[in-house]
Amino acid sequence: MDIKKIFDNNSSWVSKQLATDPEFFDKLGQGQSPEFLYIGCSDSRVTAEELMGLQPGEVFVHRNIANMVPNTDINSMSVINYAVVHLKVNHIVVCGHYGCGGVRAAMQQSDLGILNPWLRNIRDVYRIHRKELDAIEDEEEKYKRLTELNVQEQCMNIIKTAEVQKANRERNLKVYGWIFDIHSGKLIDLKIDFDEILKDIMAIYKIT
Ligand SMILES: [Zn+2]
Repeated sequence: MDIKKIFDNNSSWVSKQLATDPEFFDKLGQGQSPEFLYIGCSDSRVTAEELMGLQPGEVFVHRNIANMVPNTDINSMSVINYAVVHLKVNHIVVCGHYGCGGVRAAMQQSDLGILNPWLRNIRDVYRIHRKELDAIEDEEEKYKRLTELNVQEQCMNIIKTAEVQKANRERNLKVYGWIFDIHSGKLIDLKIDFDEILKDIMAIYKIT
């Protein structure tokens, strides 16, 4: 694709937005107060706003390979801090997706250089849930379940942070785990029991 096409696309988008709402960009210029923080995969097929049906200004977004929230990752930790403490979002979503190349790569026996430490977090998820995952014979189903469990573990990593614990107590902030089914376009709610996990997590990870 010619890079110029992007600017043509942008012009058409500006016209379309203005046709719908002449004050659209004036409003955007005034600041943001999104209710959602979305943490998803960098995969080009899984966009945040489109699959949620939201407009610019409605969701604060962080994407990385395999939607990870490592506790020592200054990038995702800063995003969570800013979204919770300053933007005061009330919902945090971790959205994984079936067919995730990151999840698949994590389980391959190959040296992937700088990706090794990043993806090792997914191997740790496998280790924690080894009994359940080893019992799944179908390879595809095994990856699907690992993807779901990875989302669940990243939700837990979010709940381990001080700002999220505080915001949950003060204004009932919630964390959700979703999967985007790339084959149907549908969002699946993993129905992670936030209160139950919180109770469990707090027994060990209570900070505030
Ligand atoms: Zn992915």
